[in-house]
Amino acid sequence: MSDAAERDVAVVGCGPAGCAAAVFAARDGLDVAVFDRGRSSLARCAHLENYPGFPAGVDVGTLSDLFRAQAERAGCAVVDDLVESVERAAGDDGGPAGRPEADEPRFVVTPQEGEPVTARRVVAATRYDGEYLRGLDDDEAMFAVRDHGDETHEHFDREYADRDGTTPVDGLYVASPSDADRQAITAAGRGARVGKRVVADARIDDGWWPEAAAGVDWVRREAELDDEWAERDRWVEWFDAEHADGPVDPDSDRFARVREAAVDDARSSYVGADDEAVRAAAGQRALAERLDPDAIVDAHGPDALLDAMDDGAIAAHAAGDGSGPSAGDPASDGGDR
Ligand SMILES: Cc1cc2nc3c(=O)[nH]c(=O)nc-3n(C[C@H](O)[C@H](O)[C@H](O)COP(=O)(O)OP(=O)(O)OC[C@H]3O[C@@H](n4cnc5c(N)ncnc54)[C@H](O)[C@@H]3O)c2cc1C
Repeated sequence: MSDAAERDVAVVGCGPAGCAAAVFAARDGLDVAVFDRGRSSLARCAHLENYPGFPAGVDVGTLSDLFRAQAERAGCAVVDDLVESVERAAGDDGGPAGRPEADEPRFVVTPQEGEPVTARRVVAATRYDGEYLRGLDDDEAMFAVRDHGDETHEHFDREYADRDGTTPVDGLYVASPSDADRQAITAAGRGARVGKRVVADARIDDGWWPEAAAGVDWVRREAELDDEWAERDRWVEWFDAEHADGPVDPDSDRFARVREAAVDDARSSYVGADDEAVRAAAGQRALAERLDPDAIVDAHGPDALLDAMDDGAIAAHAAGDGSGPSAGDPASDGGDR
């Protein structure tokens, strides 16, 4: 196992729960692998009509592609493979006494085809499956038995994990199966919550204290910053005031290091108008790339796509005057491909 790829986080499943957890973790800079193959609840929906953001619903093939694309864009490695087992890495007994050092992996994740991966944290996000976790804790704790007439069936206990995904096993989180997994949007919400827990725990491993580690993943407009908050010193002052009575000595190196990182993090969440335009165009393009023009034309006629476009843009394209966005324009994605 010594040459296994080492990740901060391995997420099992890239449905609504897994995608959300993976995106939150990767956006905070964690090195995340997402495994995705096998039985999927999402794939069984005929058409998803109650997931916010899709006025006429969305077919699950498109939504799954979007989930994977979003995970990749956030920096995750998306691995098309089925996880067969998650085991403790050598030296981890799952409790505080056997806890490996903060930067050491706790788990070995073994997929069906590819190489095993080691990870410090594992997020299970598979509505139909929990079997690959067997052995990490007592079966009675993880699995529940249900009667079906004369037969009994064992299934992963939806209440095994807390609502933020934490479990009695250090570093193991469960986003799904859970009591939130019966609707796609609630599964996504649970995944997001678990992703935020993973981020906070990784920061705590790195010396942050809980109040400092809990943050928001927001992208904000620079225009909302008034002159006072444009200065770094104002943020330092804010952090000092927030944490003066916290568990860590404000004069310590540890406090200074965490403050530096927290202030950098908060300030980097502000983007200028140009950056906002680039992001908006990249978002539009990522959606456009996943449309199926043939299906739209078949169902709604040859003019359906043209109707959705600006007449000026069509005329420019037809004239071949090359007036589309270039790589330097805000409207260009600058790196999505
Ligand atoms: C028939 C049907 C219709 C439904 N219709 C709706 C609806 O209209 N609206 C609604 O809100 N909800 C609907 N649902 C519920 C919805 O599908 C779930 O709430 C949602 O998909 C749960 O998301 P999840 O991420 O927890 O799990 P899943 O959607 O099951 O995603 C899990 C992902 O993990 C992968 N995976 C599984 N095991 C492994 C493994 N061992 N290794 C690697 N990858 C793995 C799977 O391939 C899948 O991509 C429906 C469910 C069914 C069965």
